[in-house]
Amino acid sequence: MNKPAATLFHHQKGIAIFGSTGSIGRQTLEVIAQNRELFKLKLLTAHSNHKLLAQQSILFRPEAVYLANPESQIELKKILKPYKIRVIDHDDELYQTLHQVDLHLVVLAIVGFAGLKPAVKILEAGKNLAIANKESLVVAGKQMMDLARKMKAQILPIDSEHSAIFQCLMGEKQEHIEKVILTASGGPFLNYSSREIEKVTLSQALTHPTWEMGKKITIDSASLMNKGLEVIEAKWLFNLNPDQIDVVAHPQSLVHSMVQFTDGSVKAQMSPPNMQGPIQFALFYPHRQMSALTRFNFSETINLSFQPIDLKKFRNLALAFEALKKGGNMPAILNAANEAAVAAVLKNELPFYKISLIVEKIMSHAVFVLNPSLDELEQIHFETIIKSNELIRSIN
Ligand code: NAD
Ligand code: MG
Repeated sequence: MNKPAATLFHHQKGIAIFGSTGSIGRQTLEVIAQNRELFKLKLLTAHSNHKLLAQQSILFRPEAVYLANPESQIELKKILKPYKIRVIDHDDELYQTLHQVDLHLVVLAIVGFAGLKPAVKILEAGKNLAIANKESLVVAGKQMMDLARKMKAQILPIDSEHSAIFQCLMGEKQEHIEKVILTASGGPFLNYSSREIEKVTLSQALTHPTWEMGKKITIDSASLMNKGLEVIEAKWLFNLNPDQIDVVAHPQSLVHSMVQFTDGSVKAQMSPPNMQGPIQFALFYPHRQMSALTRFNFSETINLSFQPIDLKKFRNLALAFEALKKGGNMPAILNAANEAAVAAVLKNELPFYKISLIVEKIMSHAVFVLNPSLDELEQIHFETIIKSNELIRSIN
């Protein structure tokens, strides 16, 4: 049974969600809606969906809300005028608010590089960070982990693989980790030949066999870049060497990842695929809250299969390992080239199978920087986007 609020937490826990209108943001609100007496939503942000942000605000009554897009911001203000909800004007004011509001945890559910600045600001404010935005860790994992340590802020993973590894590591010692094994559904094209992949359409790439997610991560899952980004994310979250990270295809998406220990024992975390599981785990950590999520029915046959991934066919995964091993600015270059390529695929300006070609070419021409600062990483990101867009235009 769930404990009554008074015994679980002494008072309602303040929560902020950055990117509340997206797939992870909406599912976070569902978890909060099921536990309303335990949480107080203080702050919601999104990019431009003023209608949905207004609906969420009227339902959850946060203290303040913010939209990154100025035009949508004006619309939001009009709708929220009769309600006592502050609409924040500038991102400076948003980041100031992080210092002023009593927050237990900030959920970072923004997609892409745009999540990096908020991630840094959240940690600088000393707030615990429940992170879905893997791209920020890919670009600046070292800086973020250093900042979290300095500010004594906790970083809790929401990505299902990393939540699984985190759960497998509870009660374990760092020196007993031999390797982590990230599972990958393999996306819709796992068993396609390279030639078949060359012919896939955008709508095929946007149809994921086991997960329903935002468009960028759905394309990344089909191209296996998502797994590549997750390999780099795992390095930073769990302080691993590149050769301690393996990836295996597991089409059923029931085992969310595994840890192999120095005595040869392997721990895995399993649950039916639903992101509300890892989101709830992060919101309640270290408590395990009762949930109504689907359970396994072990009286029926459940098949688990694992198969290796062909790195020649899914070049993106090999490129991500290469970027991880090289270090420095290389993961930021990989990420930026991929963001540009995926944006072009979503606009039907680049065929899906050419994503890895763009990423590979951009990486091979990049100027290597061993210890980039956060400012340099930002500059590198935007320069790489420009170069990638030029390359995309030139090959069309
Ligand atoms: P989504 O596209 O559904 O939502 C993205 C959210 O980010 C929206 O609320 C949007 O308004 C906001 N946003 C985008 N650009 C912004 C900007 N410049 N400033 C402020 N807000 C901005 O994406 P999603 O599927 O929810 O994924 C979010 C993140 O979580 C990604 O990094 C993804 O890799 C990760 N993730 C998602 C899932 C999933 O099931 N969807 C699973 C694991 C990890
Ligand atoms: Mg994942």
